[in-house]
Amino acid sequence: MTRQRTRTEKHAEPQGRWVRALAANAAGKIFEIPGYAACGRAGGQVVPLSREETAPVPHGSEFMRLPGRHPLLYNLHKARVELVREDPFHPGQPLFPVAVFHSPGHVPTRVCAYEEAQGASPLPLFSYGACGWQGKSAVSAAVQVEWEPRQDLRQMPREKVVSGVKRARKELPDNRLARHLEKCALTYGCPAAKNFFIGRYEAPLPTAPACNARCLGCLSLQKDSEIPNSQDRIAFTPSPEEIAEVALSHFSRVKTRPVASFGQGCEGDPLLAAGAIVPAIRLIRAKTREGTINLNTNAGRPGLLLQCLEAGLDSIRVSMNSVREETYTAYFRPAFAFADVLESIQMALSRGVWVSVNYLNCPGFTDSEDEREALFAFLARYPVQMIQWRCMNFDPLRYYAAMDVDMDKKPAGMEPLLQEVRKRFPKVRFGYFNPPKESFNGFPGRRYR
Ligand code: SF4
Repeated sequence: MTRQRTRTEKHAEPQGRWVRALAANAAGKIFEIPGYAACGRAGGQVVPLSREETAPVPHGSEFMRLPGRHPLLYNLHKARVELVREDPFHPGQPLFPVAVFHSPGHVPTRVCAYEEAQGASPLPLFSYGACGWQGKSAVSAAVQVEWEPRQDLRQMPREKVVSGVKRARKELPDNRLARHLEKCALTYGCPAAKNFFIGRYEAPLPTAPACNARCLGCLSLQKDSEIPNSQDRIAFTPSPEEIAEVALSHFSRVKTRPVASFGQGCEGDPLLAAGAIVPAIRLIRAKTREGTINLNTNAGRPGLLLQCLEAGLDSIRVSMNSVREETYTAYFRPAFAFADVLESIQMALSRGVWVSVNYLNCPGFTDSEDEREALFAFLARYPVQMIQWRCMNFDPLRYYAAMDVDMDKKPAGMEPLLQEVRKRFPKVRFGYFNPPKESFNGFPGRRYR
């Protein structure tokens, strides 16, 4: 990032409580726009970003220039939000918005404010947080809900991953799943796969080439869509023995509270591979009680989930963008009923299994009145143990359209939503990662509020 310090300082803008505006040129160079403050969007509401609601951008986040779009910035002199199409330093040249894709554990409270130019393509599958410049650093509007360094890239040097891959080739020479995870770690840069090879925290156990939903923002399959998928789906279902080998290797090497999870970004829904997962869980539990066996799922098949729970699953994480049937269905486009998902959650809770909701959130939708009230009613009816606040990795303006967001209504705000959930449901844990079973009855470490 370059900061056109000289130009900015010469102008001595009445910055007041607002954060400085950032934008980019066609070459991707990011710089300050003198005379303007940064803005953030939540639904139809576009406002200047204040210093109070922003904090330095967390390590591991990425800045993105948004093609086919122009930034909405706050004109400090005219005290109004303006669409700025041209680069003030090169008249006639286009100006592009800059967004931040936050590192894990941060919930954006505003998305990047921009308008699409004619013919703009959908943005790829990332979240686009609002950001600006303050003092000597880039800042963004986000709330931290997770402090565990599970996916802190500084702790996953490539050389450690590579030597882990070599070790796994010796330990598991004929294991197709271990070979698949090599591509995930070395090509896609998947932090979960890297953690398996390094031997820390949580290992991934992808198993399912197929899915019974067609999520708008599916990372592994984008059919008849202009949006590229982020990674390819696993093309085979590993055998129960291959799955158990990978899990047992991880549980034997990670000394503190290891986790192994079915349901990764490079597969469909693991319940459709229950035929391999159920015997794999039995094989693992026949060898050890160590480690947490978790399943990330859309929970659309309660019958198959029951088989996995009976085999010895410790916890589940159910992905939901909304707890309202209409908006859930508009996003997941499932081949199952919303009622099946609720039945799965009820069944797991009644069996004393730890249930997390993987709550795919987006400011302007998740903090809308209807979504807030629905979430409170859901949590009262289904006392899940945890909400994993995960960004909705999807083009925000197109998401608002798909969710039919009323752009005239003022959303309540993501931070007030988190605070209200915290107040009404104090037992519900906030975080980002699947917790180890050792922490189910009490939670060491830092918490949100
Ligand atoms: S449930 Fe998962 S695998 Fe299935 S479509 Fe949705 S994101 Fe993709």
